[in-house]
Amino acid sequence: MNTNAEALISIVVPAYSEQEVLPKFHERTTAVCSQLPVDVEIVYVNDGSTDNTLEVLDELYKSDDRVSVVDLSRNFGKEIALTAGLHKAKGDAVIVIDADLQDPPELIPKLITEWQNGYDVVYAKRSRRDGETSLKKFTAHLFYRLMRRFSRVKIPEDTGDYRLLSRRAVDALNTLVEHHRFMKGLFTWIGYKQKAVLYERDPRLAGNTKWNYWKLWNFAIDGITSFSSAPIKFAGYIGVSIAFGAFIYGIYMLVNTLLYGNPVPGYPSLIVIILFLGGIQLIFIGVLGEYIGRIFNETKQRPLYFLNDYRPRRAEQGEISDKN
Ligand code: UDP
Ligand code: MG
Repeated sequence: MNTNAEALISIVVPAYSEQEVLPKFHERTTAVCSQLPVDVEIVYVNDGSTDNTLEVLDELYKSDDRVSVVDLSRNFGKEIALTAGLHKAKGDAVIVIDADLQDPPELIPKLITEWQNGYDVVYAKRSRRDGETSLKKFTAHLFYRLMRRFSRVKIPEDTGDYRLLSRRAVDALNTLVEHHRFMKGLFTWIGYKQKAVLYERDPRLAGNTKWNYWKLWNFAIDGITSFSSAPIKFAGYIGVSIAFGAFIYGIYMLVNTLLYGNPVPGYPSLIVIILFLGGIQLIFIGVLGEYIGRIFNETKQRPLYFLNDYRPRRAEQGEISDKN
């Protein structure tokens, strides 16, 4: 950690069609940062926005020499946008924050304080969730319970991506090359000293969330399959229990037939069993498919993203830079 020279804090902001909130976000964030005895770099990642986000970022870049802009070649999704930002961030510590002001920038000083206390990952934990339906809250809760149950990575509940990472935590994340990047899990998976800071989450300021239930469902599947192979194991366990049941039933049938003869009853039970087993088999073929699809995607070893443009912060110019 820098004690003599000023520490550089990078703030990574993925932005997908956020033209309304970005100026406001920038204003609030820089207001907070100018109070701090640190040097700041704000890395905006334009994730293939369909509105004028890039133009807005250009304006910010021109008017503020702490801004750096990473422009991706298309929309890659938040996890990849975040990854691109982390790759470019140069800070001694990096803060990851949403552009929609749901993560209050006013929390940044607290995050930095805990970092200075020696924590590597300081995550912001929501003490309440406003502007979200109870169905969303319930499904989120269920998801975290499942994750805790089936994977060894204990992802903290009510925690988004908003957090501070030390340089070595960022370096650790940057070594991960997987495509299915469930960032919340990866932040925890890298280990190091982690610390929660509580805050109250506000509803979105403007624009709409890009998440719907279908996307959330896929996000949850990504989370579970990236960190646990329990669903495949289930297939084995259920198979064993059904086979065992069938064996017992077989013996019962045998004894029954020997003792009382066989007047061919049981057509309904036969159909039920066939349909039941067929269903179970299809479900687990689906589960296998989820994993095989992911293996397929990872083995292609494609780059995670392409850059359309990268403009490092102008405060850097004139300094000797060894970074590419
Ligand atoms: N985002 C992104 N790429 C996407 C979707 C979202 O970079 O494909 C950004 C978005 O601009 C915002 C953050 O990720 O800064 C969180 O998105 P959103 O508010 O839609 O998600 P939520 O807060 O509902 O989890
Ligand atoms: Mg949001």
